[in-house]
Amino acid sequence: ATALIWLRRDLRLADNPAMIAASQHRHCIPVYVHNPADEGDWAPGAASRWWLHHSLKALSASLDKAGSRLIIRSTHDTLDCLRAIISETGAEALYWNRVYEPALIKRDQTIKLALREDGLAVHSLNAALLREPWEVTRRDGGHYRAFTPFWRALSAMPPIAPEPAPELPAPPPAWPKGQPVESLGLLPGIPWDRHFHDQWRPGEAGANAALETFLESALQGYDDARDRPGQAGTSRLSPHLHWGEISPRQIRAAVTRQQQETVLPDHDVESFLSEVGWREFAHHLLYHFPHMPQDPLDARFRHFPWAADTADALRAWERGRTGIPIVDAGMRELWAIGWMHNRVRMIVGSLLTKNLRIPWQTGEAWFWDTLVDADLASNSMGWQWIQGCGADAAPYFRIFNPVRQGERFDPEGHYVRRWVPELRALPDKYLHSPWSAPEQILREAGVRLGDTYPRPLVDLATSRKDALAAYQDIRS
Ligand code: FAD
Repeated sequence: ATALIWLRRDLRLADNPAMIAASQHRHCIPVYVHNPADEGDWAPGAASRWWLHHSLKALSASLDKAGSRLIIRSTHDTLDCLRAIISETGAEALYWNRVYEPALIKRDQTIKLALREDGLAVHSLNAALLREPWEVTRRDGGHYRAFTPFWRALSAMPPIAPEPAPELPAPPPAWPKGQPVESLGLLPGIPWDRHFHDQWRPGEAGANAALETFLESALQGYDDARDRPGQAGTSRLSPHLHWGEISPRQIRAAVTRQQQETVLPDHDVESFLSEVGWREFAHHLLYHFPHMPQDPLDARFRHFPWAADTADALRAWERGRTGIPIVDAGMRELWAIGWMHNRVRMIVGSLLTKNLRIPWQTGEAWFWDTLVDADLASNSMGWQWIQGCGADAAPYFRIFNPVRQGERFDPEGHYVRRWVPELRALPDKYLHSPWSAPEQILREAGVRLGDTYPRPLVDLATSRKDALAAYQDIRS
């Protein structure tokens, strides 16, 4: 009998439960159905589409190499499209790995029901998480709202070992028709992706290589280096994880192995695994609070007095022209390579939502379009956390001071000098606050504020006070 494996956010061969199950059949046909409308308001943004294009190319090549094939089809009706492939191939079973976004959960439920009524065996499995959102529960059966107890509970559950790639069965007598990846039109019309190619290698092999590099060069010392945007101190696995080119189970197993084979400080390993835990927590929250991408979990923030007339400020923020160096460095990094260091995501988010008082959903949307790792769960959790309106968020009154953050986490200015080269010649002392530099120093460094580099868009101290006053308003 023939089985279909419907690939979605699990673009890999190893540790892929649906692929393993489908491979038990006499024939197994891997399919990818492209229908962005399924994702409702959250169809992949431009940077994600770039990634998807290259990831599908890579997956298709590895399936070819394994004697199989990836059948790609583009459609406006996913159920119809699957039914067509089922009828063309005589498939009797369909396997997929679950996704946890509200629109996709709904779609999958509808499809499962309809195809089961057609008489097909339909199975869904978990490839994306250490534990699924409903598996980690409090003693009273409820779900968690705070990270620490969530992670403690998850960590106490026995780890599930990752599985190797299955041997794929003999090809079917005839392959159904598919389309080339190019026909999906995922790549940008204008070539803003120039720097993406130097930075990223989408696909399963690229994911494994990134993990390997991280284990060898950055896991040791991670706990400290992870906060320093000027160093290659983190794994950069986020886009690979989003598209399921690697699984958290594989990551956890590799880290544990590395810890056993070499002498690694526990706090580095724990710190890294707990970041992977934040990703799990984000999925847990999104599953239990499906409105998280639009609506603050703390309802008081629905009435937050946002600033008026912010179009120019928003544009300056997006373009990395706020006049605040660490913020501009982050926003330019994001634009150039589709990724931003986590510490800097927090800093730019705090400036946007607190100093500029622009709604967090606006920043969330910009990240959605520009991040190669854009992920509904992690992005919406991150923005609510920054705004202070989410589950287990930082308290609102903790407003980042971007100058102090820069001085603390980029003390030698490697990060700012890389992304804001017009400030390169400024001494460290003034690099994070060029407006505080004496005229002569600016002149020597070739910096003319308001000309070669913008003056700060907001006064940090006043805007901080205004933000706190606005917060008092919604509290009372
Ligand atoms: P590492 O430090 O190597 O961490 C390993 C893995 O743990 C990451 O790949 C990621 O999957 C996970 N992780 C780490 N930190 C977090 C976190 N705070 N929340 C959830 N998962 C985490 N991450 C996304 O994957 N997609 C997003 O769309 C996204 N949007 C964000 C928006 C804001 C405002 C903020 C503050 C954070 C956001 N993050 C998002 C989380 C975090 O910034 C990235 O996961 C991280 O920077 C990715 O780099 P890395 O793979 O080198 O991380």
